Amino acid sequence: MTSCVFCQRSELEPRVFFDEGAWYALLAAPPFTRGQTILALKNSAADCPTSLTIQHLKGLDVAIARVVEFLHRHFQPKDVLIASLRGRDPHIHFHLMPLWEVEEQEWRQQSHREKGHLFEFLGYVETKAKLRVKTERMEHGWSEERHRAEAAVKLQPDVAALRVLTSYGSA
Ligand SMILES: [Zn+2]
Repeated sequence: MTSCVFCQRSELEPRVFFDEGAWYALLAAPPFTRGQTILALKNSAADCPTSLTIQHLKGLDVAIARVVEFLHRHFQPKDVLIASLRGRDPHIHFHLMPLWEVEEQEWRQQSHREKGHLFEFLGYVETKAKLRVKTERMEHGWSEERHRAEAAVKLQPDVAALRVLTSYGSA
């Protein structure tokens, strides 16, 4: 499956900051929320890995724990949400989403939700991110690809700092 974005790692390389065992991680561009990270299984065989087999998930425990720790150290979010749907991109990957106190407080004031309602909060974050992306594209007349490239440039200071933490590329 050559069209798989996670099998063609070279195109993602400018955003990659972690590579250990069978897993690699990169910052999402444009992110839903600051620090959104994708942890993907490396493509070691000829086929794109799409099934959640025990073989495929080997080393996931260590990889998630390590990357979440690096995200806490660099971004210092309130918490990190871990999610995986693999809808549009069936290649096994996980989204690690830093959750931000400020964003949550903003939403709680608007929604009058004092606690809980995580999925409603995520819906709010997604709607806000989509509006931000749409506005930026319209302002600059960018295509989706151009926008992703511009977002990737903006992420470079974070990628550089994370690479120092993870010793990426120094092995
Ligand atoms: Zn793939």
